[in-house]
Amino acid sequence: MKLDKSKKNCVFCKIISGEFPSTQIYQDESVIAFLDINPINPGHTLVVPREHSARLESLNPEIGGQMFKVGQQISLALLKSKISCEGINLHLSDGEVAGQEVGHTHLHIIPRFFQDGFGFKTRQGSVQASREELNKLADLIEANL
Ligand code: 5GP
Ligand code: ZN
Repeated sequence: MKLDKSKKNCVFCKIISGEFPSTQIYQDESVIAFLDINPINPGHTLVVPREHSARLESLNPEIGGQMFKVGQQISLALLKSKISCEGINLHLSDGEVAGQEVGHTHLHIIPRFFQDGFGFKTRQGSVQASREELNKLADLIEANL
């Protein structure tokens, strides 16, 4: 399904405005955090900038910094809590092809525990890249930094 980037139809903007319900655990002037309605594991949290930005390209970097800072804080709280959490995945999907479903940038905080059945799938048969290939790729990235 095509990613809807509009503010008008944005579920997270409606949660932020209070039009839609949510279970919030953190708020400040630039971000809020609430529990994911369809958690990968209990305690799965989303840290969401208050300002609508569909993708990373339009996210204010300072707000992105705050999003990560709050993500770190929540991760530490999860690790200290009684929720099953031995490790954490911080995850952000940018773009449909990366699995983004809600067109409002957000950071997932996913509690992990031994044999929880979740994991990133790696492609079979991936081989170690040569230094030459890595250097070529580094040039392509650096040219756009
Ligand atoms: P994405 O795939 O865009 O990175 O993740 C979107 C996340 O938002 C999903 O994990 C999904 O469960 C969650 N989500 C979608 N709609 C709602 C909602 O109305 N409330 C809450 N709390 N989470 C939602
Ligand atoms: Zn929005």
